[in-house]
This record gives sequence, structure tokens and C-alpha cells, in this order.
Amino acid sequence: MTPALVQFIQLLAALAFIGGLRMMAHPRTAARGNLLAATGMLVAIVVTLLDREIIGYVTIVLGIVVGGGAGALMALKVRMTSMPQMVALLNGLGGAASAAVASAELLHMPGSVPAAGGEASPAVASPDPIILIAIALSALIGAVTLSGSVVAWGKLEERGIFRRDWSFPGLRVLNAALLAVALAVALVLVLSGGPAWALVLIVLIAIALGVTSVMPIGGADMPVVIALLNAYSGTAAAATGFVLKNPLLIIAGSLVGASGLILCRIMCRAMNRSLANVLFGGALGGQAGTRSSADEVYGGRVKGSSPEEIAMMFDGARRVMIVPGYGMAVAQAQHAVRDLYRLLESRGAQVTFAIHPVAGRMPGHMNVLLAEADIPYDRLQEMDESNAIMDQVDVALVVGANDVVNPVARTDPGSPIAGMPIIEVDRARACIVVKRSLSPGFAGIPNPLFAAEHSVMLFADAEKGIREVVSAVKELAG
Ligand code: NDP
Repeated sequence: MTPALVQFIQLLAALAFIGGLRMMAHPRTAARGNLLAATGMLVAIVVTLLDREIIGYVTIVLGIVVGGGAGALMALKVRMTSMPQMVALLNGLGGAASAAVASAELLHMPGSVPAAGGEASPAVASPDPIILIAIALSALIGAVTLSGSVVAWGKLEERGIFRRDWSFPGLRVLNAALLAVALAVALVLVLSGGPAWALVLIVLIAIALGVTSVMPIGGADMPVVIALLNAYSGTAAAATGFVLKNPLLIIAGSLVGASGLILCRIMCRAMNRSLANVLFGGALGGQAGTRSSADEVYGGRVKGSSPEEIAMMFDGARRVMIVPGYGMAVAQAQHAVRDLYRLLESRGAQVTFAIHPVAGRMPGHMNVLLAEADIPYDRLQEMDESNAIMDQVDVALVVGANDVVNPVARTDPGSPIAGMPIIEVDRARACIVVKRSLSPGFAGIPNPLFAAEHSVMLFADAEKGIREVVSAVKELAG
């Protein structure tokens, strides 16, 4: 293939990425957008393989079979509710791949400082400093992404050591020092023609930095951290694109980097936090907590209910708002919720779905589940729209949501969700909460909504509970 043809095809692939991303911004076009971007990626891979014959096709096919096989197995095995953990691991692997490719490139660069004490041949030109900068950045960002993502994975899985609070007063200084040393070594790497020891040192420091910077961040902030690590993995890939002189990798990496940052910003806004506060809040020692115990919050005030009683509450309701959360995903209750929505609408109620930006365990989690159950997109309302009409809502039905409807976010500055905007179902005329127990949500704090005057609880698995409510509403209607 001529270089011009290769570049033209690469341009088409890049346009497919950009067009695909744009289409993904709207649910109606999202699936086609995904397909377009995936086709662009296929074209990009094929043209890269045809253009470059650095390694044999046997190695490439082996890599695809082993890597693709492992990926497919992970994707098949993962539970829908563990998606964020999987995304965290994939981000980490992306960062590791970028760092590994850039490092390999350094090691077989003509003119780079040789290993084992040999001397570089004077006849060979020293490596291009721009490429060395890209290699250093790729190794640094890629390794931070790898170790940071592993820690994020452990925190989301709530495994052993990751459950502990690791913040201590000097942590912020330690992180700044690690970053400064890593950048200094990167400078040495660039100025001295790319010695291998400097690269190894950068990777080791970056691994430590990834651990120390993610370790103190609280669980409730993990969505933002994952979006940020996603942005890092894209940036590392873009840097590797400079190393390999591959414009497509630069474009794809930049798109991932930029969209990760935008997502980060959206999520920070949704939680009413600044990125600095998310990243350094824990390292500063956090805010003084005034946490109430579950006994203080609930103490004899929680009212259990039954499907029949709930059917009666729905009987006179004109405006119903359904607030889905993580528990709906766990129970896979979206189909039962859809049946209830259709039934209530057929009986004259106006039903809307209030979607909190961090409900569930991944961005867009609720949108995906509700779309899967064929709930019309125009029934979904964003948090602000939902709160604007809350005073007119007769019945708010909370399905497996907890943190995103916890009024403590407004009232207790010491709580881990302090300042996070919530869906204010505590302002609706009546509120029904479907969950199995009084267990806390992701942030680990009690929720006074469950003990509020106007709230009742249906203690049940969301799928089973909602199905029973559907039957009870039908029975009541005769
Ligand atoms: P929460 O995690 O606050 O609460 C979920 C509730 O669901 C639990 O209290 C649990 O109570 C209930 N539940 C679990 N299984 C079932 C079931 N089978 N049937 C009925 N209920 C069930 O969820 P929210 O959606 O309200 O909030 C999301 C939280 O996750 C936020 O803190 C957010 O910051 C965080 N997060 C969000 C991410 C994102 O990108 N969206 C990523 C990572 C974290 P019980 O056990 O009593 O049933």
C-alpha cells in the first residue's frame, strides 16, 4: 500500500471514531454510533497490520487469540453489577500496554544507551528527544494507570487491604514528591539519550504513585476516579502514538483522554465536588465526621409495608416518579418495573423515571437497563428536571436506590456524600422504598429517608417485590 492510501484510510477510521462518539451522545443513535466506531477500529487494525510488517503474522494472530480469548471470557463471566471493576481493569491494562510498547520501542531504538555496559556506536544518531519525551510520558502515565486501576478495582470489590482508610496527613506531600522525582528522572532519560535504568525507575515510581494517589480516595468517589483513569489510559495511548509515529493511535488516544476528562467533569458536577477535592480530599484527612448510627437514624420509626398497601397508595396517584438505583440492577428488576409503569399509565397516572448521574455502578447504568426493558426514552428525566417537579409528585417509588436519595447529603457536612445533589424524594407527597433490608448503600451510611414520616418500605428483592406490587395493583383494579 502507498503511504498516501494508508493515510487516507487512517483518516476515514479517525472520522468513524469521531462520528461514532458523536452519535453515542444520544440514546437513539448510540447503538449505530458504537457500530460505526467499532468498524473504524477494525479498519484501523487491518490497515496497520497491512502497512507494518515489523512482527510476523503468527505472533499477531497468537496475540489476538490469547488476548481476545481472555477478554471474551472476562466479558462473558462478568456480572452486570461488576462492570465498573471490569472497566477499571481494562483501563489498567490499556495503560500497561501503552507503557510496555513505548518501553520496547526505547529498548530497540538505534542509538539508545545500551544495556550491559556496552557503548553506543558513534556512527548511530542519538534518539530524537521528542520521541524520548513521549516514551517517558507513556511509561509514567501508563504505569500510574495500571497500579491506580488495580487499587480502584480492589476498592470496588471491597477486598481485604483495599477496605482500609489509607489516608494520612503527609500523603499529599509524598504524592507530590513522587511525581517530582518521576519527572526529574524523565528529564534525565531525555537528556542522556534514553538509558534503560531511567525507564525502569520511572515505571517503578509511577506504580507507587498510582497506589498512593488512589488508595486514600473514598469508595463514593470511585466513579470519578475510574473516569479519570480512563482519561489517563487514553493519554498514555496518545503518547505511545507519538512514539510509534502512528497518527491513528494519537487520535484514538486523544479522544479517549478528552472524553474521559469530560465524563470526569460531568460526574464531579453531579456530586458537587471539584476534581481536586475528590483526588486530595482523602489525603487531607477528610472532613470531621458526625456520622449517626443506624439505630439513631431508624430507631423504631421505619414503617414496613405490603404489596397490597402499596397498590392502594398508587390507586389515587396522578403523578408517579420512579427512582431506580443499584438494587434494580442487582435484582434485574427493570422488566418488572416496566410492567408496573405500563400498568400505572393504563390506569391514568403520569409516570416518569428520575435518573441520578451516579446511580448504579457505572455512568449511564440506569439508562442502559431501562432501555433494555423498552421504557421510552422520553420518560427519563435528569435529576434537575425531576427535582423541579418533586412538589407535585404524589408517589415516589425508589427501586433499590439509596445514596442517590439520601437527604443527609444536604444536611450533614461530615458525611461522605456531603454536598452531592440527590433526587429529593423526601419532598414528594409519599415515598415507597423497595429494598431487602436497612443495609446501607455504596457510601456505607444510614438513610433518614427510610424513617421519614411520609415513607414506607417494602422489604423485598426488587424484582420479586415489584412483581407482587403489579399483581396487587391488578387485583385492586379487579
Ligand atoms: P446504593 O449503592 O447507594 O444502594 C443500593 C441499594 O440497593 C442498597 O442499599 C441495597 O440495599 C439495595 N439492593 C441491593 N440488592 C438489591 C436487590 N436484589 N433488591 C432490592 N434492593 C437491592 O445505590 P445508588 O444507585 O443509590 O447509588 C450509587 C452509589 O454507587 C453512589 O454512592 C455512587 O457514588 C456509587 N458509585 C457509582 C458509580 C457510577 O458510575 N454510577 C460507580 C461506582 C460507585 P439492601 O441490601 O437492603 O437490599
